[in-house]
Amino acid sequence: MFDALILNQEEKRTVATIEQLDESHLPEGEVLVAVDYSSLNYKDGLAITGKGKIIRHFPMVPGIDLAGQVLRSDDSRYQEGDSVVLTGWGVGENHWGGMAQKASLKADWLVPLPHGFSAKQAMMVGTAGLTAMLCVQALIDADIQPKDGTILVTGASGGVGSVAVTLLSQLGYKVAAVTGRIEQNGPLLEQLGANQLIDRSAFEEPARPLEKQVWAGAIDTVGSKVLAKVLSQMDYNSAVAACGLAGGFDLPTTVMPFILRNVRLQGVDSVSCPREKRMAAWETLAELLPAQYFEQACTEITLNEAPQYAEKITTGQNTGRVVIKL
Ligand code: NDP
Repeated sequence: MFDALILNQEEKRTVATIEQLDESHLPEGEVLVAVDYSSLNYKDGLAITGKGKIIRHFPMVPGIDLAGQVLRSDDSRYQEGDSVVLTGWGVGENHWGGMAQKASLKADWLVPLPHGFSAKQAMMVGTAGLTAMLCVQALIDADIQPKDGTILVTGASGGVGSVAVTLLSQLGYKVAAVTGRIEQNGPLLEQLGANQLIDRSAFEEPARPLEKQVWAGAIDTVGSKVLAKVLSQMDYNSAVAACGLAGGFDLPTTVMPFILRNVRLQGVDSVSCPREKRMAAWETLAELLPAQYFEQACTEITLNEAPQYAEKITTGQNTGRVVIKL
């Protein structure tokens, strides 16, 4: 028997309970994994609270990330005892996910635990960290270099934002962090590598089509009017990697930054990111993230606490990454 967080729907409300299951309850899969850690992402928060239509069929075990050890495998790439990581691929959305002590999964979804990471550290990174790495890579691919100027990161105290600040700083970029919580999180963001802190309110006023050029690059986790403001302040020939919607999924902008300043807007998705790119990103994360990131920017919780933290993450109250010990 093993513990799992199960989501059900009762009178159109999502209800989360901890249940004891046996392996016969698990969906079909090629690899059975003993989950050591999962993590709590914004999307998990939307799923557990029912605030977002993340889950289409119930009952469902949430958890878009997991790390653990292979118990049984029908795929020659994985043997019993191998340490593995999974992020994305719709796990925790339409296939039972990481918030259970066991998970039954497709082999293609797994990657080996990156060298130098423990299962817990891999979950401190998780989907949010992988996404941050893909955003940084998008700026590098756009040839935005440290000498070009400052990189802006929005939603900086969150999971994606805090890893993005850390990675950019490690790579030698100057970083400006936009946050709604300067008093609470300013010192942490500075320790992670932010050179400048900007109050979110400055990015919530309506944007003019073009404003003063300030940023060589940007990573946006917020969307909506904040992204519109960011776009209006981008340098000529700069690039923005957009991955999130913490402030809304609309984008009230104009074509002006694109057609007059050659600004490039690159969308970033981590869920269906191809395996090779994913593995390369994990290896770079293992090389770049300093010990200080893991000591400062992460909270460990139990499965019982997941619903409470899900509420917090959907109301912008979490800082850094939250990992769940199974
Ligand atoms: P978090 O909740 O940890 O971080 C989001 C941060 O955004 C908050 O900490 C807060 O930072 C800021 N924020 C929250 N609410 C608002 C608001 N109403 N207006 C402006 N800023 C706000 O979430 P994650 O870091 O896990 O995810 C960030 C976003 O990226 C989410 O939208 C998520 O869905 C998306 N995402 C996308 C992925 C992809 O593959 N494309 C993968 C992973 C995440 P502060 O207090 O510092 O302002």
